[in-house]
Formats: sequence, C-alpha cells, structure tokens
Amino acid sequence: MMMDTAAAKDRQLLWVSGSSLVLIGIAALALPDIGRSWGERPWFEAVFLAGVVLLDAQIALFLALQALAGASARALSWLAAGYAFSAVAAATTFFVLPEIFQAAARRGNLPAIARWLWIAWHGGFPCFVLLALRAKARAGGRPREGGGRSSWFTLLPVAIGILLALAIDLGIVANAGALPAVGDGSDFGLAGSTIGAVVVVLNVFALMAVIYMTRLRELLYLWLALAVLAFTLDVLLSLAGAARYAAGWYVGHLLSLASAAALIGALVIENFRLHRDAELRAAFHEQEAMHDPLTGLFNRRYLTEKLPEELGRARRYRYPVSVLMVDADHFKVINDSQGHAVGDECLRALARTLGRRIHRFGDYSARYGGEEFVVVLPECHLHGAIEVAEEIRRRVADLHARGEAPRPLTVSIGAATADFAAAPSADALLATADECLYRAKRTGRNRVAWPQEPPAPHGLQATPI
Ligand code: GH3
Ligand code: MG
Ligand code: MG
Repeated sequence: MMMDTAAAKDRQLLWVSGSSLVLIGIAALALPDIGRSWGERPWFEAVFLAGVVLLDAQIALFLALQALAGASARALSWLAAGYAFSAVAAATTFFVLPEIFQAAARRGNLPAIARWLWIAWHGGFPCFVLLALRAKARAGGRPREGGGRSSWFTLLPVAIGILLALAIDLGIVANAGALPAVGDGSDFGLAGSTIGAVVVVLNVFALMAVIYMTRLRELLYLWLALAVLAFTLDVLLSLAGAARYAAGWYVGHLLSLASAAALIGALVIENFRLHRDAELRAAFHEQEAMHDPLTGLFNRRYLTEKLPEELGRARRYRYPVSVLMVDADHFKVINDSQGHAVGDECLRALARTLGRRIHRFGDYSARYGGEEFVVVLPECHLHGAIEVAEEIRRRVADLHARGEAPRPLTVSIGAATADFAAAPSADALLATADECLYRAKRTGRNRVAWPQEPPAPHGLQATPI
C-alpha cells in the first residue's frame, strides 16, 4: 500500500490540525510587530534559501520515486514538479541576492529582479499544486492501468517544473533591465500591488482546493495542506511586513521552512512505517507458507525444503539423521463415524504430542499429508529413533484416557536412519520410513517398525522387518 492511498489516521489529523493552529497562532502573534525591522541578517536569508532548496529537492525526489513506484503517478509527479520548481526558484534567488555573500553589497530596496523572482516562485508553486489536484481528480482514485512500475515518462511533469523554473528565472535575470516596474517604493514593495494580490489568491485557492478536493483523507494531502498553509502564511506575512528583515518576513520564512521539514518528516516516517509493515507481512506470510494451519506444525513444503539441507549437513559433518513416518490408525473410521470436527481435534491432539516429545534442539515434526506426520531427528541413530517412536506411540495411545483426545487413537510408525556413509537422498530416506510404516500397519498397527534389527531396547512393542 503506497502512502498516497493510505487512509489518513486520526492521530495524524490531530497532529496536522494542532500544527495548523500553532502556525496561525504564531502568525497572529507576529501581526502587531509585523512591519518592524528585526534587524538585517543576510545569513538568515541564506539559511532559509539553502533550507528550502534542500528540503524541497528532497520532497521532489521522494514524490518522484513514489510516482515511479505505483498508484496516483500523475498527481504525485505534478506535486514533485511543484517542489522541484520551488527548489530551483529558491536556488536562483540565492544567487541574485549579492548581500547574502556580502552584507555591504546591499544597496537600497529589493531590486526588481528579486521581486519578479519572488512572484514567479510564490505564484508558480500553487499552480503546480492545482495541476496535481487536477491529475488526481482525473485519475479518480483508480489504480493505474497495468499496475506495476511507471515508465520514466511519468516524470515528465518534474522535468517541466525544473525547466520552467530555470526558463522563467533565467529569463528574469537576463532581461533585468527590461522588467516592468512592480510594487511601490518600499523595500519589499509588493504589498499593495495587484500582482501581490494575485499571488495571495493563487495560494489561498490552492489551499482550499487541497482541503476540499482531497478531503484530507490521505496522509500525503493532509500534510500537504499544512505545507500549503505555511506557504500561504509566508506570502501573507512577507507582503504585510512590506520589507525584508521585518518581523512578518522572518516569521513567514520560519513557518514555511518548518512546514517543509514537517512534510518531509511525515513522508519519511510514513515510508518507514509502510516498509516495516511490509516486512512484518512478508515474515508472516513466510511463516504461513511453511506451517500447517490445522496443527501448527511445519508442513510438507518445509520438510521437502529442509530435509535435503539437513542430509547435506549430515554428510559433511558425519552424523546420522533419523526420520519417523507417523500415521494414525484407521483414521477414516473415526472421521466417518464421528465427523470431520472430531477427526480434526484428534489430529490436533496427535500434533501436540509430537510437538511435546520432540524437544531436542534441531528436532522437528511436519504434517506430511492428511493424517500422516514426519518427525526429523538429526544426530540420532536408529536405536534412538526407535525409542522416540515408541514413546510417541505410547503417548498417543494414552491421549484419550488422559482426556486429551475425543476418541481413542493409535498410530503406526516407520523409522529410518540416513547413515552418512550411505548418504541416501531425502526421498529415499522417506521411502524407507514409509515402507516400514506399511509393515507396521500390516503386522497389526499401533506399533513401530524399522529396516533392520538393532539391539531392541527392553520392553518395546516393535516389529523389525
Ligand atoms: P490406516 O490405519 O491404514 O492408515 O487407515 P486410515 O483410515 O487411517 O487411512 P486412510 O488413508 O484410508 O484414511 C485416512 C483418512 O484421514 C481419510 C480422511 O478422511 C482423513 N483425513 C485426512 N486429512 C484429514 C483432515 O485434515 N481432517 C480430518 N478430520 N480428517 C482427515
Ligand atoms: Mg491412517
Ligand atoms: Mg495415511
């Protein structure tokens, strides 16, 4: 599930609402002081612009990668374009303000070139937000056709954003002399201008559009609303402050920077969460794929994967591996007379017994088929395997008497051992155990059988072949 399709969580909504109130509160607090100079600090402008370039470029990269990865590609790509546009615009501004590098270089009011760059930047960004919303509305939340990854063509809007920013900004710089005068004679000079009002209207419109068109149901747009709100407050405060280095200018810039940082923080946290969830899900599915749902034991797939590995290790380190093929006796009768549910309960009781008896590290049991189980005993000779098999047989026979199984139940067990010198394959080893199981069935059931006669432990009810 990608971030842009994730449902906005209540907690996040609370965070964003709280942050919005804080932003508006801070902006309101700055109002009485708004036009007063807080002192010329060109380094602040440098830090602000560098911060915007870095953060917006990161956000653009993040969104572009998400656009490449999946759903809502067009909308994400246009949003990425907006942030790429903003990063390039901020970078250009950085280089046309000489005072950033040299305080003494500042002479008089903000030059027309810087005013036009500001207009292009702050008017352009909301346009990209609106384009993203239009793309989102057109896609209508449908998953992209064909699914899977997008082509690089998806990122065309990002290229447009970067090239447009460069074209506009370089155009402004190249035609500095021919630029129409804008604003009044004050430093910032755009407060009362029509173009200043247009920039405000564009931003307010973009903010409303984010809220009304997305209903803030997706986390990305929830945080985007906060970012656009901060951007709008920055525009309003900068205009109302009417001068660089005025309170409004400082506070607006800080809010804008903080919200960009919050957006990228939200993107990173959300992405981390999705990755962690995906990993947990993958681990869960892997577990599921290796286990039998009825008994909780490993399944046949696990056995066929692991037994050859175990035999390979056994050959290398020269130890024997024994297997037991365990099959419930006359199980069909229980099933047919008592019903499937009782049969299932018997199988679970049988599986619990296998799990309980198999406690040596490295031992495990797997459900091989319907009422057939395999127990794997690494570093165990045939003699030991027969002992384990006999104990399993005895415990299963006692299950009903101990109230642990709904019906009397017995098992027949075939044991076989892979000697590292003979090195049989997993299939051959299981076939030998199966043969012995068949013998145990034929010779009366409720017994253990093995291929050749080792010195039988005392008191075993066992049938050598
Ligand atoms: P034998 O002593 O020769 O092994 O006789 P059997 O009846 O146990 O053997 P058979 O292979 O004829 O029947 C096995 C039965 O196990 C058939 C099926 O109804 C039952 N069975 C297989 N899987 C399940 C299961 O998941 N749940 C239940 N309740 N029964 C199962
Ligand atoms: Mg059976
Ligand atoms: Mg069977």
